[in-house]
Amino acid sequence: MESKEATAKKSSLMNVLWDIQNKRRYISQDDKTKIAKEFNISKIELEGVTSFYHFFHDTHAGKFTIYLNCSTISKLHDYKAVKQAFEEELGIEIDNVTKDRLFGFFKTSCIGLSDQETSALINFHPFTNLTPKKVKTIISKLKQGHSVESLSNFPKDNIRYTPEQDKTVFFKSYTPGIALEKLKQFTPDAIIETVTQSKLSGRGGAFFPTGIKWQFCKNNVSNQKYIICNADEGEPGTFKDRVLMNKYPGLLLEGMTIAGYAVGATEGIIYLRAEYLYLRSKLEETIKEFNKQGLLGKTILGIDGFDFKITIHLGAGAYVCGEETALIASMEGKRGEPTTKEFFPVEKGYLGKPTVVNNVETLCAVPRILEMGLKHYLTIGTKATQGTKLLSISGDCEKPGVYEIEWGMKLKEFLDLIKAKDPHYILFNGFAGEFLSSADLDRDISGENLLADHIQFTFKDPIEYSRKMSGVGLRSGGSFMVFNSQRNLLSILKNITDFFIAESCGICVPCRTGNFLLSKKINKIMLCHADNTDLDEIKEWSTIIKQSSRCGLGKLSTNCLLTAMLKFPGEFQKCLLAESDVNHAFNLEKAVENYNSVIEEIESSHG
Ligand code: SF4
Repeated sequence: MESKEATAKKSSLMNVLWDIQNKRRYISQDDKTKIAKEFNISKIELEGVTSFYHFFHDTHAGKFTIYLNCSTISKLHDYKAVKQAFEEELGIEIDNVTKDRLFGFFKTSCIGLSDQETSALINFHPFTNLTPKKVKTIISKLKQGHSVESLSNFPKDNIRYTPEQDKTVFFKSYTPGIALEKLKQFTPDAIIETVTQSKLSGRGGAFFPTGIKWQFCKNNVSNQKYIICNADEGEPGTFKDRVLMNKYPGLLLEGMTIAGYAVGATEGIIYLRAEYLYLRSKLEETIKEFNKQGLLGKTILGIDGFDFKITIHLGAGAYVCGEETALIASMEGKRGEPTTKEFFPVEKGYLGKPTVVNNVETLCAVPRILEMGLKHYLTIGTKATQGTKLLSISGDCEKPGVYEIEWGMKLKEFLDLIKAKDPHYILFNGFAGEFLSSADLDRDISGENLLADHIQFTFKDPIEYSRKMSGVGLRSGGSFMVFNSQRNLLSILKNITDFFIAESCGICVPCRTGNFLLSKKINKIMLCHADNTDLDEIKEWSTIIKQSSRCGLGKLSTNCLLTAMLKFPGEFQKCLLAESDVNHAFNLEKAVENYNSVIEEIESSHG
């Protein structure tokens, strides 16, 4: 077993790897030998770590490393033309580096800019609303010696307000320290009680009650506890946490500090996805400012023994690190693989200490609840889901962006609000979510009457489905994508399945190979080579993946495919082979039997 000192030291491994990646543009074999020695780990273990993260390269990634977003929303926009423009300007195909090593050009999945597609990161600076013309200018200016920073466009972030003025939680002006000042009126227990009564739950999508999580952590006696902010917003189509951190970095710091006060933690860490590296300096400046104002550091607000510091830990490109145990493993310098839940992080988390992991939006909601008062907060939303929710809107609508809605708004009202254009396929809750159709328009966006798992094939047709599901709420972590009737559902599904293939950590066979096989099936349907047997197998395999995967990534990876088949059966049926074209004469089992008997014959003839 690893010593405590070695475990603690390893938590700086990712920073060391980032330093080298940034300086040399790749991590060489010599670097790996030296680092393995320094951290007293085998080179194979280190290879396991570096190869796990998309943004660590073992060959030169170019002085200017370009990551073009290839997610499905990007493809609705100018992806194809923009990709071609980059390829022409650089003289290389995607996923290559120019001979002079000046440019590396790679594709990557969602970078949290779905409201401003087509987008790319160059040396982790954002470039949004790209067109072929813009690409030409950017590349030519980089070649002339302009800096990446001077060419990049920092996203203009705003929250679109929808509830009545006194019912907003986030869409308000913000003055640093107001909520923290209120802490003087609360004991740690009273804070936990307030958060519990507010029914605030994990806004990243898990919806675990925040007050209960904090109480569990408080109950664990330890000389060291941690508050980790999960800012690894990787669900495709989600960017609300980007907007919160960009617009209200102080609100996040206050939320973390209040959490620390409540559970008795003295250290907070923001796990920031590398795709949001451009927000780091803003967060760091705000931390500095808070320290200066006595809102962070020692004896905060003069409260005896109330010490709290916040640092930032950078991810390196791995969707699965949004899962809390994977995130903690990543912070400890390991592969970001989810672990079986022998212990919850609130018992044994980061470096083996009790740890609260909360999403950005959850933490930002806490100071607002203290600020407005519990009584007022409880008047907003529905019985099961109090308050408001931030939704990230992208796709075929006039007004993409982040919206604050009061829980309980009808889906059709919301589609009007965002000025959706011919909304036909609605992808609710990201790639791990589900497809909605016109049958769902009267449902509320809320956590009312949820079913344990409604994505089963108990429904025979969309009418039966809508009858059963009316009154069942739609609860979302934040991603909301709209596709019009002209979009190709199968190619959207292919993009989703390929995303899960790329992002699976590979530990469970059903997740690792299952999505690969499903992708082949989708290809087969797209080529009109499939028949009803293929659709049955998709359902069967999807259920196996769902039931036998270790973490949410695998369990939820087939939701979109299953709900698309349920709600849009015609899109699949129209691609199937005509019954008369199916070769019923071919019997696989019989063929295998024959093959085996031939092999046996050959073997026996040899002796
Ligand atoms: Fe890894 Fe997939 Fe298993 Fe999750 S379900 S642990 S991502 S292989």
